[in-house]
Amino acid sequence: MMTHKQFEHAIIVGGSLGGLMMGLALSRSGYTVTILERADSSLRNGAFIRLHTKPYSHSAIERGLRHLASNGNNNVEAWSAIQERLRNAVAKEPGITLQHNTRIVSVGQNESSAWATSEEQQTFKSDFLIGADGYRSIVRRYLNPDKPFADYAGYLAWVGKVDEELLPKKDWKKRQLSSAYFNNSAAGALTTAVMPGIEGRTSPGQRWIGFCWFDHSHNPLLSELGVLKDGVAQYSLYGEDIPDSLLEELSQTSQANWNKEDDAILQIAIRERSLIGTPVNEYIANILSKGRIAMIGDAAHTMSPMTGAGFNDSLDDAVAMIDSIKQYPNSITKALGEYQTRRLDVVRQQA
Ligand SMILES: Cc1cc2nc3c(=O)[nH]c(=O)nc-3n(C[C@H](O)[C@H](O)[C@H](O)COP(=O)(O)OP(=O)(O)OC[C@H]3O[C@@H](n4cnc5c(N)ncnc54)[C@H](O)[C@@H]3O)c2cc1C
Repeated sequence: MMTHKQFEHAIIVGGSLGGLMMGLALSRSGYTVTILERADSSLRNGAFIRLHTKPYSHSAIERGLRHLASNGNNNVEAWSAIQERLRNAVAKEPGITLQHNTRIVSVGQNESSAWATSEEQQTFKSDFLIGADGYRSIVRRYLNPDKPFADYAGYLAWVGKVDEELLPKKDWKKRQLSSAYFNNSAAGALTTAVMPGIEGRTSPGQRWIGFCWFDHSHNPLLSELGVLKDGVAQYSLYGEDIPDSLLEELSQTSQANWNKEDDAILQIAIRERSLIGTPVNEYIANILSKGRIAMIGDAAHTMSPMTGAGFNDSLDDAVAMIDSIKQYPNSITKALGEYQTRRLDVVRQQA
């Protein structure tokens, strides 16, 4: 625990995996944190994260985050399982307030504080502010007004997971835990991965199978639906919002292009509407901080999903942020400048 600090309270905009990890890292270092998240508190779905095991700085904070993410030392984990563990850890942390249903529309700063304003015109003030608000980041628009939006990469990823027990039993043993399988066809690229299921169960039949289908064939439709506007991705398509006609088309395309085992996974997800169509974006950062405001995760450097790079880099960002704050405990502007020095070249090279 630190002694008296010159800056104590942080606002984090965005409470997905990056924001939750940043909040935990700060709280465990003795800071108070308010996380502002636009979505409601329901747990969300995703596919899988392939976790890198290479430590960033070997700190206790980093070890704690890696332990939570990997549930010990698993290589592949369900996105939703990581989210749930991080949420539970945040709930136990007295220094963190996680506020849902709060969409931030602008951020700002002066010499003594930083703030975020919600669409209800509520202003949240703090000593410093960190944007973990993903590929359409409001914080990025503040930090880099000349290059505020990520570029749409030209394709969408359909992601989700299904219970293995719903799949043909004869296929259960063919799949290895923690393995990822890659396929290509005229319908794009498909990665599936086997990960621990509910409550970390690992026996065949009790696991989850995650999938990510890169689909480049629906760009005109995405524009019609408003997912793309002037070439910039606006939002992801969640199950309930996917038009029936598109689901039917996906079902037929899957059956015609993927092998029987993979098609069985996709047919279940399509039938249950348990898939998300997430536009893939690219953003190469040229700034990560200014004064009392910084950004981490997909806000700072948007990556293609399924490499897991987005998650692994956001973990490294959070660790680098804490290391920088420890280096300059009396000056938040120096600390955030140090964070940028440590991370900018690294994230630019990885993009
Ligand atoms: C539902 C979901 C499922 C995903 N599934 C996978 C997956 O299976 N595999 C994979 O590799 N990656 C997946 N990702 C991406 C992955 O989480 C990120 O690449 C990585 O973890 C870095 O996350 P992040 O927290 O920086 O950004 P994100 O995960 O994009 O989170 C940004 C958060 O900020 C919130 N937010 C955005 N704007 C505002 C605002 N104005 N005010 C307040 N809050 C705001 C969003 O609601 C969101 O919760 C998924 C992301 C989401 C949101």
